[in-house]
Amino acid sequence: MSTNSSSSLAGHSHSGTEPAISQGDRAKAVVAAVRLAQPAWAALTVAERVAKLRQAQQNILSKSTELAELISRETHKPLAEAYSSEVVGVGDLFGYWCKHGPAQLQPRKGLIPTLEMPKKQAWIDRLPRGVVACISPWNYPVALPMRTLVPALLAGNGVVLKPSEVTPQTGVWLVEQLQLVLGPVVSVLTGDGSAGAALVEALPDMVVFTGSTRTGRRVAVACAERGIACELELGGKDCALVLQDADLDRAAAGIAWGILTNAGQNCAGIERVAVHKAVEGVFVPKLVAALQRAAADVPELVTAAQRAVVEGHVRDALARGATLLAGSVTPPGRPLPPLLLGDVPSDAPAWTDESFGPIAVLAVGQDDHDLVRLANDSRYGLGASVWTRDLGRGKQVAAQLRCGMVWVNNHSFSAAVPDLPWVGVGDSGTGVTNSPEALMHLTRPHLLLVDGTSDVEAWWYPYGERMTELMRAVIARQLSNGIGATLKTLGALKARMAELRSSK
Ligand code: NDP
Repeated sequence: MSTNSSSSLAGHSHSGTEPAISQGDRAKAVVAAVRLAQPAWAALTVAERVAKLRQAQQNILSKSTELAELISRETHKPLAEAYSSEVVGVGDLFGYWCKHGPAQLQPRKGLIPTLEMPKKQAWIDRLPRGVVACISPWNYPVALPMRTLVPALLAGNGVVLKPSEVTPQTGVWLVEQLQLVLGPVVSVLTGDGSAGAALVEALPDMVVFTGSTRTGRRVAVACAERGIACELELGGKDCALVLQDADLDRAAAGIAWGILTNAGQNCAGIERVAVHKAVEGVFVPKLVAALQRAAADVPELVTAAQRAVVEGHVRDALARGATLLAGSVTPPGRPLPPLLLGDVPSDAPAWTDESFGPIAVLAVGQDDHDLVRLANDSRYGLGASVWTRDLGRGKQVAAQLRCGMVWVNNHSFSAAVPDLPWVGVGDSGTGVTNSPEALMHLTRPHLLLVDGTSDVEAWWYPYGERMTELMRAVIARQLSNGIGATLKTLGALKARMAELRSSK
């Protein structure tokens, strides 16, 4: 795919009127400019950075109509969904981090045992990593990068955003609005995948990558080779488990939304439904009806390539004996309708691979245990939902699921709650976005230890026999962890110190 962007921003693609500059040089120039601006940004107090971020929030929200229309144009999502899944969340993100971030960044006093180690004090600060590269996909071109940009900037980092080549204008718009208030500490690098690769090669201090598992692995290798910290938020194949006692009307409505929101181009989209055999007969017609009712709100997929993946999964499954419970593959030029497949073999790509479209496969389980087995039959592990009237049973089933997030009687909406971690396991990646955990990853701990003692330390030279005795005493203390052992250690320490003093 080629880029379709044009702007005067530093990291923007060559327009044709300027001298040609290589991808690698462009990436290096953008990283260097942000690196130059970052120390002054980090030198501000947290309160000063909060004030600037609040200004940026005002600036972006006051232009929310422009932003929602831009998102809708680039991603095809209905305007209502551009607001609900992207723009509204931006306000919450700034609000959460400006209110709760400063406390999370407070230095912590370290615990040094004062009895054994008097006059020593330690502090642990959370320092910015430096320049954070945020490589983002096209499916949520605002919500995804902003959940990294806002806390990263709050912590004093500089940030370079690499938006997808499919949604460059949204990425450029966002960064321009931030730059109006924050200046050059934030920048954008547009272009295709090679621009993303060049950005990693330009040696940022950290890469936060959101995207496919295949590309994520390549980025992780490139980071490992260069010693760059790396966070991966990758694909998913979420399963909804419909237990025997579920509220079937709510489950059908919620699962239809989980399958179809953003036309299924959602890392936590429901792509598999495991239903208890006792309710299959009632639930399936309800789900099919809910999918059909939603069809008018489901846009065309963003790229022809993605549509080809979905169609390939359907064709392959049908050839292996699957049945179409809802929808049918439409000719090119018409949006794909909601699709539901039954009787899909467990080794078919429709069951094993991410489809990323308005499609799910349905499987029937004999009991809760069987439903859990079906849900866990995936190398992905992002989210899952359990639908039941018995909340205790829902929690029990949730505890058996191998994934980063489980929702009981809902699906995936926690992405919009900045205090809650967004996290997966397995092929869904090892990264965390949102929540205090994410802020910890966007900063590094820095230790400061101050020693007010004047004595020579017991473990310094010369060792002599007393040193061995001292170490044995320490181990004895660790083994028993009792008061006698402590005294023994202290006794050994005192003797050792006296010996060192007399040898001075
Ligand atoms: P890709 O992996 O194709 O692309 C993601 C980003 O990486 C894009 O900006 C892309 O640029 C860039 N890129 C491509 N190649 C490289 C490279 N070699 N080095 C560095 N960067 C590169 O993902 P998609 O855009 O197709 O997004 C869909 C995927 O993202 C799905 O698998 C989905 O599940 C996942 N995702 C995960 C989320 C999570 O939180 N776990 C959230 C949302 C999506 P370009 O687009 O210009 O090619």
